[in-house]
Amino acid sequence: MALTCELCGSTDFVKDNGLFVCQGCGTKYTLEEAQRQIAAQKQAAQAEAQAQAAPTLNNASDFTPAGLDVNAAGAKEANNYACRAWQMLLAEYKKLEHPTEAQQKLLVTHAQECLTILDDAARTDPNNDLLSLLIYENCKEIASSAKGTYHYVQDSEGNWKRKSLDFSVKVEIPGQRESFDSLISAHRKVIEQRYLDAHPDEVLQRERLVAQTEEINGRLNELKSEKKSHGFFDFSGKREVKDRMKPVEQELRDVRGQISDLDRKVDKYVDQCLRELGQDHIRLDF
Ligand SMILES: [Zn+2]
Repeated sequence: MALTCELCGSTDFVKDNGLFVCQGCGTKYTLEEAQRQIAAQKQAAQAEAQAQAAPTLNNASDFTPAGLDVNAAGAKEANNYACRAWQMLLAEYKKLEHPTEAQQKLLVTHAQECLTILDDAARTDPNNDLLSLLIYENCKEIASSAKGTYHYVQDSEGNWKRKSLDFSVKVEIPGQRESFDSLISAHRKVIEQRYLDAHPDEVLQRERLVAQTEEINGRLNELKSEKKSHGFFDFSGKREVKDRMKPVEQELRDVRGQISDLDRKVDKYVDQCLRELGQDHIRLDF
């Protein structure tokens, strides 16, 4: 790719004393600036090519899954195309006053087409677990929002009855045997592990806390059997043991709370990663 002047657009340059001098307007570029300029040009050209690989999508009727080349478009563009298409298709469907069962089935077919695009998108970069997590969460949203739609039938008196999708109709990725939840959790675990690897101190702390809960549970169990050893009518004896159990139960709650706090940190990290990726990748949330 040739260096293009950012001021006048000329590609005619002459090297002078280690500088690139634009013959159109005289602007001088250092080697570093020229390299940066070329890298930016390459990036812009790639983004353009990817955008072109996805057909235009101004409304639901533009949706043409066959017109999308997932590999050429790249995972981001494919994800955004399928998600935008689904948002439009679902919005159109919801505008219908009394959609028929046939219309609902067509919507489900479109949902499956979106799911196929998303699954293909995830496969373009199988080692990118964060991207796959985002994509399969989108798949789950599409499936559940499709399943949540209704169609209408008129009874003999002309009254409209609302009906759900037939239970036998599955909204899933064609050919994919794993459930959305298992795909999501598999990719999520990899991201979680990335956080844990970077925070060995917290991992150790959690292990200590878990050991602590076992020790506390042991003490609690001893007290429980002690309480049982009092006869059925020995209310005061049982009460006395119960009073000694209370602080131990509180201790257990405290330690469990500390474990949850640590687990929440991991969740927060994953959510933060998804939020960052979500700045230019559509995340569905119906
Ligand atoms: Zn110039």
